[in-house]
Amino acid sequence: MGAYVSVPTWWRQLDSRYRLVVGECTECGAHTFPPEGACVDCNAVDALEPVEPEGTGTIVAQTVIEGGAPPEFEALLDAEGAIGVALVELDGGARLPGMLTDCDPHGPERGDRVEATIRRIYEDEGVVRYGAKFRPL
Ligand SMILES: [Zn+2]
Repeated sequence: MGAYVSVPTWWRQLDSRYRLVVGECTECGAHTFPPEGACVDCNAVDALEPVEPEGTGTIVAQTVIEGGAPPEFEALLDAEGAIGVALVELDGGARLPGMLTDCDPHGPERGDRVEATIRRIYEDEGVVRYGAKFRPL
């Protein structure tokens, strides 16, 4: 089933996906993504307040998918040939994975600065899924 996200779950997370909302911990100030559950830093429960970060950050890990992608990404992989994917630490500390866009998928490297931009991710169950991708600064 790959990275399957059901439509109800997608809708529930829409706010954080479109506006890139992270949870700011009221106990320690750390940022957590998605903004639910426990703080990634101090494990405080029910202490996350939604905040919108700048959307800029630094690549901490990066890879290129050239085959064997989850089924919902097959069409994109066929069209693009390769998909750059990065784990990005946003300024403020939250870490989240995202696809790279507006660049050669092999181009960005660890330590490069990127910014979030809302793009089409894929279509599944008749619903086009949009969310944050990252482009080089
Ligand atoms: Zn905390």
